[in-house]
Amino acid sequence: MLLNETHDPSLQSWVASAHKADTDFPIQNLPHGVFRRQQSTEAWRGGVAIGDAILDLAALAALPSHERPMDDEAAQALLAASQARLNELMALGPAAWRALRLALSRALRVGAPQAAAWRACLVPQAEAEYRLPVEVGNYTDFFTSSHHALNAGRVFQPGRELLPQFKWLPIGYHGRASTVAISDTPLQRPAGQILLPGQQQPVYAPTRQLDFELELAVLVGTGNALGQTLSLAQAEQQLFGLCLLNDWSARDFQAWEYQPLGPLLAKNFHSTISPWVVTQEALAPFRVAQPARPVNDPAPLPYLSNTEDQAHGALAITLEVFLSSATMREQGMPPLHLSSGPASNMYWTINQIVTHHASNGCNLNPGDLLGTGTISAPTRDGFGSLLELTQGGRDPITLPTGEARTFLEDGDEVILRATASADGFVSIGFGDCRAIVLPAR
Ligand code: MN
Repeated sequence: MLLNETHDPSLQSWVASAHKADTDFPIQNLPHGVFRRQQSTEAWRGGVAIGDAILDLAALAALPSHERPMDDEAAQALLAASQARLNELMALGPAAWRALRLALSRALRVGAPQAAAWRACLVPQAEAEYRLPVEVGNYTDFFTSSHHALNAGRVFQPGRELLPQFKWLPIGYHGRASTVAISDTPLQRPAGQILLPGQQQPVYAPTRQLDFELELAVLVGTGNALGQTLSLAQAEQQLFGLCLLNDWSARDFQAWEYQPLGPLLAKNFHSTISPWVVTQEALAPFRVAQPARPVNDPAPLPYLSNTEDQAHGALAITLEVFLSSATMREQGMPPLHLSSGPASNMYWTINQIVTHHASNGCNLNPGDLLGTGTISAPTRDGFGSLLELTQGGRDPITLPTGEARTFLEDGDEVILRATASADGFVSIGFGDCRAIVLPAR
């Protein structure tokens, strides 16, 4: 993915809030989402975040054509991007995405002649609500952070090492698309089978070990046809973008059910994604080398090995987790920062995940969601789950109110955030991925 004029750090927008120091959405970002005004019966439609506003793409598409100068390819992409779901946009492919991004970037710049007409297409983010930006046809979650795998494994079994497969292929399991929910959708504490300590038989009860998992979600663009595979270069070409993913997990269900076929009900009750999809093109300035493998680890098999991917296949994204309890919010306290770490703590690159998924001819479709797996650092300040942060509940976290947490309590809110940064470029953010835990029914 080449750099172009849309990444230029000197670009200025006539949307003043796009220049606030802490905005996630400068003119260099331009992520796609689907929104409407809160508590309205307006139609859901596509928009692009800019500063603290949303550029309403349906309103834009309704302008007279002389007020939205763009070539046919960009105009076709604009129509697709203004829909109530973005799958059609994702199916159009990278040339169309690039054409639309360029047209939007040019028209949002200071001095653009269409600024007056386009200003009428802005909706404040504070007035908006969001829905899933895509119809998620399939959801697969991976397990690509070796630190998470080791940290989590050692909670259950001290001294445990990685399974040999971990270093040969990106481990994953098929998740559940129907329970993927947009940020701000409360999740209900699930009930399930739990084998309590010292017992021979499980009980069916609300989880006592509700956890979050800090992940990136990959949204498939054009994908691949059934029976076809994707090289690493093709995987990169066809990806649409990334958002944040909280793969909520019930650790007590998981411990009982995961052998021999992996997780099922421990993870498929609710998965939260952030509303804005940061495009692959917007992330181009933040591509970095994949960290070298430990010296004694095997080299990947040829279909997962490519010097270009090793040189540029990781991303300079910092991921963060915050927690607030109901009492903290009542007392007006800000959320507590739990951890932060770099996305480069993945043992496999995103392209390797996608290539591996398609390597048996499994077709990936526009809007399919692939989770990276929990991204954890080797040290506590960057752990991406409570399982790791509290050592399976043995080492509670103290909140500013004096409350203690081992796992999540009813009323807790978990907030994920992320920022991509690189020297010489304007940082771009992902917006919040958040949800509050409701009591079991
Ligand atoms: Mn996960």
